[in-house]
Amino acid sequence: MVYTEHTTTLEKYMSLPQKGKVIAEYIWIDSQGGLRSKGKTLSKAVTDLSQLSEWNFDGSSTGQAVGTNSDVYLRPVAYYPDPFRKGDNILVLCECWNSDGTPNKFNHRHECNKLMTAHFDEKVWFGLEQEYTLLDPDDGYIYGWPKGGFPAPQGPYYCGVGAGKVFARDVIEAHYRACLYAGVTITGINGEVMPAQWEFQVGPCLGIKMGDELWMARYLLDRVAEEFGVKVTLHPKPLKGDWNGAGCHTNVSTELMRHPGGMKYINDAIDKLSKRHSEHIALYGTDNALRLTGKHETASMENFSAGVANRGASIRIPRSVQATGYGYFEDRRPASNIDPYLVTGIMVETVCGSIPD
Ligand code: ADP
Ligand code: MN
Ligand code: MN
Ligand code: MN
Ligand code: MN
Repeated sequence: MVYTEHTTTLEKYMSLPQKGKVIAEYIWIDSQGGLRSKGKTLSKAVTDLSQLSEWNFDGSSTGQAVGTNSDVYLRPVAYYPDPFRKGDNILVLCECWNSDGTPNKFNHRHECNKLMTAHFDEKVWFGLEQEYTLLDPDDGYIYGWPKGGFPAPQGPYYCGVGAGKVFARDVIEAHYRACLYAGVTITGINGEVMPAQWEFQVGPCLGIKMGDELWMARYLLDRVAEEFGVKVTLHPKPLKGDWNGAGCHTNVSTELMRHPGGMKYINDAIDKLSKRHSEHIALYGTDNALRLTGKHETASMENFSAGVANRGASIRIPRSVQATGYGYFEDRRPASNIDPYLVTGIMVETVCGSIPD
């Protein structure tokens, strides 16, 4: 049976006064690229990040530490209004740190932030297109698909309208509003080519904010979908066969690229990217080989390619950017299950240079 919350009953309690107390939900990334969170009572509303104290959790229960030395520390790095509890309650994004003062193995934000800080003057913007697929939590099959069978072939579903072409629009609508409430820079949503697959875009975001906001948007999606009794998967190829995979196209620009004459810098960046194809691919998500086949609007994983308005290339320069001569480029290689800190980090390293010792 699909679990759904007792919404009306819960509402009675959600509207009770909190007597001045505030709930902060501390959120972190686990060893599987999943999200975890736990709640904490604060004595007053938070107006600055510095007011949020460090906390900890049992890392042996999340695959982030061994049982004999299990404390992992949560360091708050950003906070957002909580669309579920509302009021002064907040969601707190955290980095994970070990007790010996080193970043936890799965804390990729720390390195990313160093790169972003070193290249702060280049004002690197990112825009990520997060594709994802909805599943029925009971059997793990694609949400809304006929059991043991398939819907009609792809064609009518991309940006589709109407019954039979759209699956779970309510979840997508709720997530959109939750992102806006939390202050996530969500730029849009669309139904995808494969039925029950959707996309939302976040950006442009400056530097480290990209990873932070994408993780928050994912957290909000998981929470919203949980309430609707729907499961979200970020797997890049949820179903083999003639069904599109799921990516996380990564749009990038530096200050120089965004102004007249910028095309030169875009071409320079593409040239640098062409020389580090395999290093990038290594950080572009697990099981991405199942998706980057050269079919279904992807480029083969074997070769690097670039082109204007070409959705079968590794890197696409949007037609409008070619026309004006400046703007941004799109890296189409990253899979839906990337850690955005790894991807934006190596992007800055390749395009702007590594951190000087
Ligand atoms: P597509 O045509 O590939 O489906 P989308 O509209 O889904 O494109 O997404 C485009 C993304 O590019 C958005 O996330 C947007 O924020 C981002 N973007 C737009 N301009 C820039 C820019 N100058 N630098 C980086 N990202 C940008
Ligand atoms: Mn306990
Ligand atoms: Mn898109
Ligand atoms: Mn898409
Ligand atoms: Mn795209």
